[in-house]
Amino acid sequence: MQLSSKVLENAVMQFSKLPGIGKRTALRLVLHLIDEPQEKVNLLAESIKTLKTDVKICTKCFNIADAALCNVCLNSSRKHEIICVVETIRDVIAIESTQQYNGSYHVLGGVISPLDGIGPNDIKINELIERIKAEPIEELIFALNPNIQSDTTSFYIQKNLPVLPKKITTIARGIAFGGELEYADEMTLGKSIMHRVAVTNL
Ligand SMILES: [Zn+2]
Repeated sequence: MQLSSKVLENAVMQFSKLPGIGKRTALRLVLHLIDEPQEKVNLLAESIKTLKTDVKICTKCFNIADAALCNVCLNSSRKHEIICVVETIRDVIAIESTQQYNGSYHVLGGVISPLDGIGPNDIKINELIERIKAEPIEELIFALNPNIQSDTTSFYIQKNLPVLPKKITTIARGIAFGGELEYADEMTLGKSIMHRVAVTNL
């Protein structure tokens, strides 16, 4: 892409480094910003800058926070005796968006994957175990992506817990809402049959 300005070229290059932003989209965003008033551009620049200086990681659950503890950990109306174990902060955001969960979280920051060189000490497993030892946990929910690495991770955690919480659950794996049975893969359909629930529980 040949541009008549080095400043423009540099801005396009920086924007196109963002995930999902190609050169053409980057150029559209940059041209849009050029047309915007200075204060608006300053606000955007400032909010980007503070991402690195002001955003913190919760010292308890490793979710995004504005202070030492995140809003979920600080919220007294949530059920702190339930911990939902997830891989990333994006998973917390996804579950929070459903407005169906009122417990706490623990963000592992990955899953055990020997092929990628990720062992139990590379993610926040020890922190989770210490948390379960220190707090009266009633239920541990594994909300991990359905794959071998996640299964290995949840197995490892359970094996290393000195005392198991009363309830250990995993999110249901099954047919997507609006999906069709005949197009579901065998593994998904098989799991759906195995983990069927009583109609009154739906
Ligand atoms: Zn937290």
